[in-house]
Amino acid sequence: MIAVYVHIPFCESKCSYCAFPSYVACDNIKKKYFKFLSNEIKNCKFNDRDVASIYFGGGTPSCVDVDYIATVMQTIKQYFNVLDQAEITIECNPCSVDFDKLKKYFQLGFNRLSFGVQSLNKKMLKLLGRRHSKKQVFSAIKNSKLAGFNNISVDFLLGLPKGDVVADAKKMLHAGVKHISAYMLQLENGTPLKQMVNKNLLKLPSDEQVVKKYNKLVKFLTKKNLYHYEISNFAYKNFQSVHNFSYWTGQAYIGFGLGAHSFDGKNTRWANADSFEQYFAHNVDEEVLSLEQRDEEIIMLGLRCCRGFNLQDLSFDLQKSKEYNLLLKENIIYLDGTFVKLNPRYYDVSNSIILKLLNN
Ligand code: SF4
Repeated sequence: MIAVYVHIPFCESKCSYCAFPSYVACDNIKKKYFKFLSNEIKNCKFNDRDVASIYFGGGTPSCVDVDYIATVMQTIKQYFNVLDQAEITIECNPCSVDFDKLKKYFQLGFNRLSFGVQSLNKKMLKLLGRRHSKKQVFSAIKNSKLAGFNNISVDFLLGLPKGDVVADAKKMLHAGVKHISAYMLQLENGTPLKQMVNKNLLKLPSDEQVVKKYNKLVKFLTKKNLYHYEISNFAYKNFQSVHNFSYWTGQAYIGFGLGAHSFDGKNTRWANADSFEQYFAHNVDEEVLSLEQRDEEIIMLGLRCCRGFNLQDLSFDLQKSKEYNLLLKENIIYLDGTFVKLNPRYYDVSNSIILKLLNN
């Protein structure tokens, strides 16, 4: 089985913190891009595998004409065996969808929506350069439900100077959202937000303050019966993202489009170029992972996830490591059969624990 990712690299404007391969482009580029994308799908060698999930991400997939999305979807369904129960997600900006567009997505076979909300605070939305308003978030969720969607996810950003992520999450659950992702704001090189911070025009909260907020959010969501199934992801029962889970558990995934990454589920990964010129020239970077790199990835991805990682998947005996036994003794990690899991109390310091295990 495989997971399929489709990258739609277009946005209506560029957000102040964004370093993703996304561009404000003219119709000609879009036309050429979607033609190229369909050919890439048609020529994929892995079309003998069943598809368990499809994810249209970006960029902002909802900012392009629905006909483009429909063509890509039909091509995937024509060239791959998409399982009946496959999870099929499209990322949307709350201000670029209305009832008609959402209904069309539903009719095309999408069964999950992921909205980039980031915050419900007006000032923060402005600071981030987001185009939507709080009102549009609620209206998008309402229209999604009317269009037939039950599986709705929203993304939030942690580490903003203002706003209350717990209060925002509460409102989202009340509106009918089933899945919440909360990612740390990253100050990426070359972004206007980083420049503002460098010039002391903006002060961000300290790491301690961010961890405090994160812990508050974890407490609130788990109390509301959402399952904290990955460090940044929370979902009601049966609403965990199948697609993301396949990344975290080392399954094969195929990425189509600009800058999209793929992994064969064993030891080879490859990435399309992230400039249009190079992508249209079929430039692909391939990397064969060494046993050591694969082990590192298994530990790193596994410990971020509630599933943990299987000791038997490693190429060496981690149980002989002093660091591993120390973490086990201190109940920072624990064993569940042959799976090593991180005690959820230590999710906020997971990076340092993962480093300790990797440097054993
Ligand atoms: S909508 Fe997303 S991809 Fe587009 S500019 Fe904003 S953060 Fe980047």
